[in-house]
Amino acid sequence: MCNYEIYKILKLEISKSLINITEKIGRDINLVQGPGGNISFKSNGFMYIKASGEKMSDAKNKNIFIKTDLIKILSSLESSDPDPIKNSWEKSSLMRPSIESTMHALMPHKYVLHVHCVNTLSWVIQKNYKKKLNIFLKGINWKSVPYKKPGLNLSIEIKKIIKESNVDVILLENHGIVVGAESAESVFEIVKNISEKLYLSELNKKKIDLEKFNKYLLCKAYKLPKNEYIHRIAFSKIHSLIATKGDLFPDQTIFLENGLVIINSIEELIILSQLRANKLPVVLIPNIGILIPRTFKKVNEDTLVGLSMIVSRLPKDASINYLTKKERNELINWDLEMHRKIINN
Ligand SMILES: [Zn+2]
Repeated sequence: MCNYEIYKILKLEISKSLINITEKIGRDINLVQGPGGNISFKSNGFMYIKASGEKMSDAKNKNIFIKTDLIKILSSLESSDPDPIKNSWEKSSLMRPSIESTMHALMPHKYVLHVHCVNTLSWVIQKNYKKKLNIFLKGINWKSVPYKKPGLNLSIEIKKIIKESNVDVILLENHGIVVGAESAESVFEIVKNISEKLYLSELNKKKIDLEKFNKYLLCKAYKLPKNEYIHRIAFSKIHSLIATKGDLFPDQTIFLENGLVIINSIEELIILSQLRANKLPVVLIPNIGILIPRTFKKVNEDTLVGLSMIVSRLPKDASINYLTKKERNELINWDLEMHRKIINN
């Protein structure tokens, strides 16, 4: 069911095509996992943007957009205000604009789309990826920015790039991609096109033997994930090591906060579940598959699917850039991320 009427009642100038495209992007696990990703459009000095923590896939069921004062955000950014979003939206709505609103505001395009595309991420988490990408993205007007905490810090980097050149595509290291164009259809087409160009290969699908999990499931703190894709990395030693070594992107830090651990026996699992009872990690059992904590919500599993897809696409000799301890701490202790976490729990 689609409820376009909600947008009319709320007097939001959101077109049907934007709603349809937003929902379609939100349903594509290659592009969006959980509440990640956002889309915006600018009109008459205002910017409509997805609200923080809302899911793009919900665009047809309820209003997920919030109207912000674009002129105000841009002038706050110009005067280096530490909180450029402050007072830029109607507080009575109970929603708040996406953490990435400043990035959207800075892009000069009418429509801006930002997603955590797995094909893009499988490149931008690697060291020395740029030279290779020059070949794959020939003909596309793109630039990249080093990893920065999403929000204002990242926007400062975006601002530098935009001042230097007219780019339509910016790759965000250890984060994703942002694209600007003059229509919702175009931003989607550009992202889809780049995603296809950046897909090389992925780990083969393995037949999962559920019986092999039986003894591990005696440990009641754990359950099987719903999505079988997740198990794929447990069948590759290199990919298991990459997935368990550190955080590759911000949503991993936020929604898979207790990490991933390789275990080799039920005894190990029992000890682990006792030692880390309140901070249960995801467990990876070599050549069997993956178990998730019983308390896992949909948002946690969606993030894990994203992680598995990214890692599965890495070449065996990939050299990885992990988020540093400092970068992880900046995310964990951030009140705006807490807001996203609360509405997704
Ligand atoms: Zn993002």
